[in-house]
Amino acid sequence: MISSGVDEGFSGKAKLTARKAYGLRTPQGIEIALFHPMGNPTRAGNIPQILLRRQTGRPRFEWACRYTPSMPPAQPSSSVALPPCGSANDEPDAVRADLVRHWDGEHVWHAFTQMQEYEPLLIERGEGAWLTDTAGRRYLDGSASMWCNVHGHRHPRLDAAIVSQLGKVAHTTNLGLSNPTTVEFARRLVEVAPAGLEKVFFTSDGSSAIEAALKMAFQYWLQADPPQPERTRFVAIGEAYHGDTLGAIGVGGVDRFTAMFAPLTFEAIRLPSPGGPCPHTNRPAASLAESLADLDRILTEHRGTIAAVIMEPLVQVAGGVLVHPPGFLRGVRELTQRHDILLILDEVAVGFGRTGTMFACEQEGVTPDFLCLAKGLSGGYLPMAATLATARVWNAFLGTFADRRTFFHGHTYGGNPLAAAVGLASLDVFRDDRVLEGLPEKIDRLRDHVARLAAIDHVGGVRQCGLMAGLDLVADKTTGTAYPWQEQRGTRACLAARKHGVLLRQLGDVVVLMPPLCVTPDEIDRMCAAAEAGIREATGA
Ligand code: PMP
Repeated sequence: MISSGVDEGFSGKAKLTARKAYGLRTPQGIEIALFHPMGNPTRAGNIPQILLRRQTGRPRFEWACRYTPSMPPAQPSSSVALPPCGSANDEPDAVRADLVRHWDGEHVWHAFTQMQEYEPLLIERGEGAWLTDTAGRRYLDGSASMWCNVHGHRHPRLDAAIVSQLGKVAHTTNLGLSNPTTVEFARRLVEVAPAGLEKVFFTSDGSSAIEAALKMAFQYWLQADPPQPERTRFVAIGEAYHGDTLGAIGVGGVDRFTAMFAPLTFEAIRLPSPGGPCPHTNRPAASLAESLADLDRILTEHRGTIAAVIMEPLVQVAGGVLVHPPGFLRGVRELTQRHDILLILDEVAVGFGRTGTMFACEQEGVTPDFLCLAKGLSGGYLPMAATLATARVWNAFLGTFADRRTFFHGHTYGGNPLAAAVGLASLDVFRDDRVLEGLPEKIDRLRDHVARLAAIDHVGGVRQCGLMAGLDLVADKTTGTAYPWQEQRGTRACLAARKHGVLLRQLGDVVVLMPPLCVTPDEIDRMCAAAEAGIREATGA
């Protein structure tokens, strides 16, 4: 790869100028013939081979080219005719940025992204609640970098913690041995977690924290006294999202993410979500009393076969910010205790202050049997997750090796010391900067905006829980009729908000507002103004 760029407004046969060549200093002004519409690579004599021409808009093309090995370099270079990727570092900044954009589209398979339609946006830097792309444009991080950033980017204390740990060791395994930083982090987690959660099993991301909890719950019953091997099933909430690994999608209920993989996984017993009404299915929410009665019925009917109930406490985030009625979590805990069924709480998205308290389950005075943490666990810096468990669970796994009670599960980077160091620093910042005490003002400011945004013509339902909100875009506000999903109004609204310097992320046609906890009230104003502009542009409201 030697050259790339973007050109505007050409049609038919057009000419571009190669700016620079690797191993072949193309004199400024060499011309490359391109043919429109996109066709086969073009070569003639010393003309570089066209590798990429992507229509990025009308009539705008990205292009990149390289010299093929058969072309003799004008100035002999090393024996390698085609440069390694690292050659981008030798390019001037503008060319390098183009190359990296090109490689992004060529080589990086982005999560939850249709790569055929992918428009590269490369974030190069961050500071506080702000991100800067390779072209120097600044954006407010309105999705907390996928709901995980807590105290902001490049926080001095978090950065320093990683540097300090790097001076000791970056990674040692957690399988059968340990590291002081990781141990200290486990201890601090136990101190801040609801009383009773004393054991910390480290994994590396939210999905793996869920997998560990599911497997632990299942194995617990095999080793309980007396053993109950028939307990193989899980109860999950409708529209639940617990990650993308197979076990996690078994208990997931967002059909558009999970349905096609159903043959590969197990089927959970579903309790319809009491949050909503669900913007995707338009299913009205059940009342608190109905939901709890329903759960009681399920637990009775399936007596002796259920290992655990799994749920996100207070709000199902990826389900569309579906906020549960107060008392639901408490009611579920009471029922699981009455039926002697384990409770797994997934605080991957809602933990670490997002709902206004350190953990969402505190708000209803609930201690689960398993608490799954990730995202904000490392302040949003490094992959790190944990499944916290009670002594009751832990004890069922004790015995000699020959007793076969060991939990045979682990991830290479579980308990990584760098991530533990930054997690510890994040907890220090929570404590020293009294982060939770600063949240009510921000939550109120968001609430004011959400109330205002709810009045927009094509905004149907709005829901907020702590420092997060979801705004449903609908075709008809009076009837609540959804847009055809193919129109991707939510995506369009978020892309339009980018033009106003704010990065947002949608869940289908739900626009989600979820800034880092460090966001200021002024920045919340800015985020909401951009959301409004984006929504108006995408819906014509
Ligand atoms: N549970 C919940 C509630 C989540 O929101 C997510 C991710 N958004 C996960 C689990 C999975 O976490 P990860 O993407 O880190 O695997």
